[in-house]
Amino acid sequence: MKIFGENVFNETVMRERLPKATYKSLRKTIEGGLALDPAVAEIVANAMKDWAIEKGATHFTHWFQPLTGITAEKHDSFISPTSHGLVAMEFSGKELIQGEPDASSFPSGGIRATFEARGYTAWDCTSPAFLKEDAGTLTLCIPTAFCSYTGEALDKKTPLLRSMEVLSQQALRLLKLFGNTSTKRVSSTVGAEQEYFLIDKKFFDKRIDLMLTGRTLFGAMAPKGQELEDHYFGSLKTRVASFMHDLNVELWKLGVLAKTQHNEVAPTQFELAPIFVTTNIATDHNQLVMDSMKKVALRHDMVCLLHEKPYAGINGSGKHNNWSMSTDDGMNLLEPGQTPHENLQFVTIICAIVKAVDDYAELLRFSAANPGNDHRLGANEAPPAIISIFLGDQLTDIFEQLQNGGLIRSLQGEKLASGVKTLPAFRKDSTDRNRTSPFAFTGNKFEFRMVASSQSISGPNVVLNLIIGEVLSQFSDRLEKAADFEQELQAILKETATKHKRILFDGNGYAEEWVEEAAKRGLPNVTSTVEAALVLLRENTVKLYEKHKVLSQTELESRYEIALEQYSKQINIEALTMINMAKNLIVPAAVKYSTQLATSINAIKSAYGAADVSVQEELLKGVCSTLVSFNAKLITLEKSVQDATALTDDAYAQSVCFRDVVFTAMQALRTDGDQLETMIDAELWPLPTYAQMLFML
Ligand code: ADP
Ligand code: MG
Repeated sequence: MKIFGENVFNETVMRERLPKATYKSLRKTIEGGLALDPAVAEIVANAMKDWAIEKGATHFTHWFQPLTGITAEKHDSFISPTSHGLVAMEFSGKELIQGEPDASSFPSGGIRATFEARGYTAWDCTSPAFLKEDAGTLTLCIPTAFCSYTGEALDKKTPLLRSMEVLSQQALRLLKLFGNTSTKRVSSTVGAEQEYFLIDKKFFDKRIDLMLTGRTLFGAMAPKGQELEDHYFGSLKTRVASFMHDLNVELWKLGVLAKTQHNEVAPTQFELAPIFVTTNIATDHNQLVMDSMKKVALRHDMVCLLHEKPYAGINGSGKHNNWSMSTDDGMNLLEPGQTPHENLQFVTIICAIVKAVDDYAELLRFSAANPGNDHRLGANEAPPAIISIFLGDQLTDIFEQLQNGGLIRSLQGEKLASGVKTLPAFRKDSTDRNRTSPFAFTGNKFEFRMVASSQSISGPNVVLNLIIGEVLSQFSDRLEKAADFEQELQAILKETATKHKRILFDGNGYAEEWVEEAAKRGLPNVTSTVEAALVLLRENTVKLYEKHKVLSQTELESRYEIALEQYSKQINIEALTMINMAKNLIVPAAVKYSTQLATSINAIKSAYGAADVSVQEELLKGVCSTLVSFNAKLITLEKSVQDATALTDDAYAQSVCFRDVVFTAMQALRTDGDQLETMIDAELWPLPTYAQMLFML
């Protein structure tokens, strides 16, 4: 396909345009993680500029991922003045390698005082540069990491690259113990399935809540929801199909392997899955996916909603982070083979992952936490907030054998007859699917299903790489010292299987009984972002991150501050938006309608004194009393926002107040607001309804 990767400065382009020696040197840097030679950067920059200009680009930008969770860019043109009042198009090696965005307003969690605001961006040559198309203009985007002058990470890419290094080094140690000396690098790979909603722009434009907060803060449930499940995998409407086509083209040009797409469970909800790539690139690509979804939707007079819970009462959106490890010589380390019990290296790695997830469950939980996801996790539509692992029958059986001290068999899936002659009889996947598990083994990868739809996938993957790297290092420490490798390995596996079987769960993760059972097993159940963030301050977290140099204590503390700050800010914006809607839209509508009713009652009575106006009177009574209740709750909400806002010197107390007091007051106000919606004349209701937003696309 000709368009695939046409806007990417990829392998093929590099090989074509770079002198052989330069190309080789750059490849070494990319593959081996070696420092980049400035002379090489100069040549690459020049080739990149020529390529970009030939394609029609005039500007370049260092594209980075600050802690806001989205991407940032600051555009510079290639233009540079010459001595004769003319301009030349220039782009130096230095401009490629390093940038200095005046980025004092990005969150830094106190690391960077504004007077020393300068952070710098540094080229990440492991992720290819690309051209971004916006309203006909092309900009050369250079993926970069963003750090402070003192070297602290201010972004989501830096720790990700560091964590990938940890995983590679520790996995190599283990592979070596199993006799593999040829593998030079182990990379984690990720395929992120992205869920999203589409809404007709004409409705979106009338919803200030969607505009400012990404979710509907009021809205009575439509008479129909997702109960018929007629949307799931249903045929695509023309308008959506044409959006998806454009989206794919856009993504293919950017080298994103957009592969599958389908309707999701909720009406107007969809999913896109790309083919997996190295984690670092997958993370950049997921940002491009989210960005392109929003842009392309607008071209079709729709708006793409990436919020985790745009609508109350129907499913929200998440991301499935499919994760595996592969070697530079092409092996997927999570491939069990036909007889996994004979594949000790595989079994050891699975044990390491199970131990890592159990030992560091709360870190993993935090990595998927944001205010939007608080609406989903544990709410019967997404995995519970409890981390558990689903291994499937075959691996669970292996785990049980390990506890008993030895491996003798691998269960084989039964043949599954399709009942249709023309279809081949396929083997029932012995890692059968369990859709309710937050962390499931699915054939040759793990699927982490808690991730929030709007968040960067960097956080979850930093944690996965780091905690698995750490347990691999613990295993290797023991094995390298052991006099008898086989014996020590058996001991490790038995120990792990016995100690960590508590995290294995193959039942229904949505069920109430699981919450009780998990508590009995001592598994943490962290239900909100605010509590989840506390894990960043724990001593063993700091020890883990510092041991592997992924984040320092200062960097962790700053991330904790930012998490709380963003939580409080988000709830504050939602509360203020609600107050605004209540006062300027809902109260006036209720007043108008009650006045209409009163006028009508009076008019009818004066025209015909004996008329029965009991219906109108009942309605009037209902609207008036609900309005009184609504207004009281509005006052409570306003007061609670003031109280929370005043708690400026304790970020934790403030976010707890936003969660427990402000958020609760918002829910109460919504109940009355939605009640009013069901009472008031549709002509007077100032907001598009759920029925319109969810069924008119
Ligand atoms: P589902 O049944 O959950 O919809 P698929 O089996 O089609 O999913 O795969 C989902 C995602 O997992 C895809 O993005 C795919 O590329 C990704 N995936 C497959 N193999 C790997 C792997 N080895 N590492 C990481 N991701 C993978
Ligand atoms: Mg999936």
